[in-house]
Amino acid sequence: MIPKQSLSQVPVYKPGKPIEDVKRELGLTEVIKLASNENPYGCSPLAKEAIVNAMDHLAIYPDGASRLLREELATFYNIDENHLIFGNGSDELVLMLSRAYLEPGSRVIMADVTFPQYKSTAVVEGAEIVEVPLKDGVHDLDAMLNQVNEKTRIVWVCNPNNPTGTINTSEEIAQFVEKVPSNVLVVLDEAYYEYVVDSQYPDSLPLVAKYPNLVVLRTFSKSYGLAALRMGYGIAAKEIVDNLNRVREPFNTNSLSQVAAREALRDQEFVTECSRKNRIEMKRFTDKFEELGLHYYPSQTNFILFEVKRDSDEAFTYFLKNGIITRSGNALGCPGYLRVTIGDAEQTTRFLEILESMVAQPLQN
Ligand SMILES: *Cc1c(COP(=O)(O)O)cnc(C)c1O
Repeated sequence: MIPKQSLSQVPVYKPGKPIEDVKRELGLTEVIKLASNENPYGCSPLAKEAIVNAMDHLAIYPDGASRLLREELATFYNIDENHLIFGNGSDELVLMLSRAYLEPGSRVIMADVTFPQYKSTAVVEGAEIVEVPLKDGVHDLDAMLNQVNEKTRIVWVCNPNNPTGTINTSEEIAQFVEKVPSNVLVVLDEAYYEYVVDSQYPDSLPLVAKYPNLVVLRTFSKSYGLAALRMGYGIAAKEIVDNLNRVREPFNTNSLSQVAAREALRDQEFVTECSRKNRIEMKRFTDKFEELGLHYYPSQTNFILFEVKRDSDEAFTYFLKNGIITRSGNALGCPGYLRVTIGDAEQTTRFLEILESMVAQPLQN
């Protein structure tokens, strides 16, 4: 069999280790997963109730246009319904954007390091990939702009960036989109939008109204706590939405995720409360890093990337043996660092205990 030639270059996504595997492999009974930036407080009870009620209609195909969710989200943001597109997680929107806008000979620009799906979907399409190093953990938008040429189709800006958690300010973003040629897509991936507290963070929707080449991606997976259901969305000019609809599968989002997302959207109190608790726990992490003299990147998300002063895999294994799954910086392109999701108060306490005991251990080399 002969697969598409570009596939041999595509890295296979390595997910965070599942809890059950770790329990079995290490013989542990208590394991905490702080590897995939999931919401430690679950999701709104309204979302669960909506799913139970929707169970009576499993024989029926979903509404391919997500009409009810579309209406509510358009009202929520006060935007036109035609400016929304839904995906099986915002991951699928990344895939659809690459599918619709990249081909051999086209160029795509992204940060190094950033969310890996921008690259892997571009490799499949055979596009030329330009990775621009972060500056102090933040997208270097001027350097990215310098890489834009007549072949460029997409510039990815992950804001806040995964895995550093850092943001570009509204001034930086506004200046950047002003300078990017109007036929080049700029995608602002705002998966952690609801967690951001920094007042310098851009309000990107007015920019979408002003710049028809701008796409904003958001998701129900993170602060809404619906990662299992896969529901993400894009906000963009109608022309872009129309092109994405050409590559979209007719029933890409399912009925259960649509109803759950609608209810979750109504429960803004839940989202606000999760963000509030997230900042409280985040402070405990950063206080401890300062006390221990470990560098970290200031994070506007529900995860943080910090220095471990030893090999990342060694630190990862230390936490794993103590029942906590994290992300090794080696797997993320950040050697010497570990990425950890901000859990609830109890999980933070446990994490910080293990961190202290690790730091107290002599280095192996
Ligand atoms: C988690 C994440 C996503 C994907 O979220 P979905 O679950 O697919 O909606 C997209 N971008 C970034 C930067 C993320 O961290």
